[in-house]
Amino acid sequence: MNFSDIIGQRQVIDGLKSSVKNNRVGHAYIFEGPAGIGKQTIASLFASALVCSADQSSGKKAGEPCGSCRDCIKSRSGNHPDIQELRVASSNRSSAGIGVDMIRELQRDIYVKPYEANKKIYIIPRAERMTIQAQNSLLKVLEEPPVYGMIILTVENAARLLETILSRAVLIRFRIHPQKEVEAFLSKHYPDLKDEIPVLAAFSGGIIGKAEGMATSEEFRTMRWDAVGIMMKLLSENELDILQTVNYFVENKHLVNEILDFLLSLFRDIIFIKELHNENRIINRDMRPQLKEFSQRVFSGAIASIMNCLLDTKKKISMNVNYTLAIETMLMKSWEDIHGRSSRRAI
Ligand SMILES: [Zn+2]
Repeated sequence: MNFSDIIGQRQVIDGLKSSVKNNRVGHAYIFEGPAGIGKQTIASLFASALVCSADQSSGKKAGEPCGSCRDCIKSRSGNHPDIQELRVASSNRSSAGIGVDMIRELQRDIYVKPYEANKKIYIIPRAERMTIQAQNSLLKVLEEPPVYGMIILTVENAARLLETILSRAVLIRFRIHPQKEVEAFLSKHYPDLKDEIPVLAAFSGGIIGKAEGMATSEEFRTMRWDAVGIMMKLLSENELDILQTVNYFVENKHLVNEILDFLLSLFRDIIFIKELHNENRIINRDMRPQLKEFSQRVFSGAIASIMNCLLDTKKKISMNVNYTLAIETMLMKSWEDIHGRSSRRAI
């Protein structure tokens, strides 16, 4: 893995490479961007480039790690003594904070000279987990860093760090990837996905890590087919068929946003087929037969109304209304949009 293997983030990478090449590296960096955007990967490569001991005559590109020297091998396996990543030991890492003790430990350690390289680098992932006390302690290091010391903080939102920390660090913003870049990444690493690639790219929100998570998640892929199954049940003359899917929504409550987003993408595709006669723009290409059947059997007005209802339900659920009731209402209203209220039987 090297900088050239990373898709997108060219501006960030070129900036970091040129700072290594010109020996103009700062003492503190803040990498800001959504989870899965590549902050951690790029931080590791940047650290490797700084400790790499190969010289230009070995053919390595300026500003990049060579990938094969002793230092690069150690840093790749996470064993370089001069690169440390702050790890929070906790059973529940997502909510665990970074306490002042951990930063004090870093503070003691950073003033001990590097063991092997010319730099000593600390990476603090998800640094917004630092308590205020921890941030104040870090500030002391940033005020008087040793010449060889460097700290990289990764955050989703830099505004959650103290102003005083922000003013002493170089802020680097990671941009979300255009859909084409996400597709390029998936085509390169998961070529077997074929027709699913545009779907995953569309749902990734421009975040390669998220696209990759979906590509490797069986649950996610099953859910897509479940969603199209639910959509087809709306066509049934018997409203009990659609009402029975309430159980599915209850069992998969943790995925409800994804399920509703998928349903929305299916109806969006149907509009492309039905109204715009443009099948090239549909996202869920692997579901073309179902989309076509649905589009032939349902009026456009009903589709627009169902989409509004899905959006409305998403909003309601985010406001913590009665979940089951919201789902039941959504399903029943959607069914009525297709079949007409009058066809509803007395249950
Ligand atoms: Zn190297």
